Amino acid sequence: MDSVISIKQLDKTYKSGHRALKSIDLDIKRGEIFALLGPNGAGKTTLIGVVCGLVKLTGGTVIADGHDITKDYRAARAKIGLVPQELATDMFETVWATVSFSRGLFGLAPNPAHIEKILKDLSLWDKKDNKIATLSGGMKRRVLIAKALSHEPKILFLDEPTAGVDVELRRDMWAMVGRLRDQGVTIILTTHYIEEAEEMADRIGVINKGEIILVEEKHALMKKLGQTRVTIGLK
Ligand code: ATP
Repeated sequence: MDSVISIKQLDKTYKSGHRALKSIDLDIKRGEIFALLGPNGAGKTTLIGVVCGLVKLTGGTVIADGHDITKDYRAARAKIGLVPQELATDMFETVWATVSFSRGLFGLAPNPAHIEKILKDLSLWDKKDNKIATLSGGMKRRVLIAKALSHEPKILFLDEPTAGVDVELRRDMWAMVGRLRDQGVTIILTTHYIEEAEEMADRIGVINKGEIILVEEKHALMKKLGQTRVTIGLK
């Protein structure tokens, strides 16, 4: 398998003593859409944090597009775009400045044509001169995605991209994920919802209490998940 991300024996124990990830082995195939499905507190955000180098692992290895995240952080991170759950951005900057600045953080030369394409793809072009603070919640989410794509990453993580968004944005989000995949981007998203994982993903991994309990092509998942679905509280 051509893996774009290879995770081996990954462990994370927080300072509190809580072991949030337990010996995780997981390979993400180049070009696929992979959904990480799990109930609250399962370890989804921690796993994304570790793979993106934001949370320090306590055991194991993570290789992202050939780069070890702990030994070669900058090279690995340059390959990855992250759309976090929470909005963390300067409210008083314009959309254009925010997205351009984000690209600059990776030490890349400005590329106005690329930024223009992202903003157009995300229906943000007519808002490019607006301050973030003046945008609706849905539009702010689109800005987070635009930021994550500003440095042309090969891998995109979306942490619960549709939590709390309306039907229209949810549909747009699904369409956008499909377009990005067609452009060759590998996508990993987290969700609580089986239906959403099935709608969006090629393969699905189920995480519960810090352990990956199942990884399957989406069509095979429901049969295998069976009663476990109810036991771990998935909707
Ligand atoms: P949700 O769907 O609710 O966002 P999740 O699957 O993303 O949950 P995580 O946020 O990764 O789960 O949390 C996994 C476990 O680790 C939880 O029990 C959480 O309380 C714990 N945890 C997360 N961050 C920390 C931290 N900084 N210190 C200690 N424990 C933490």
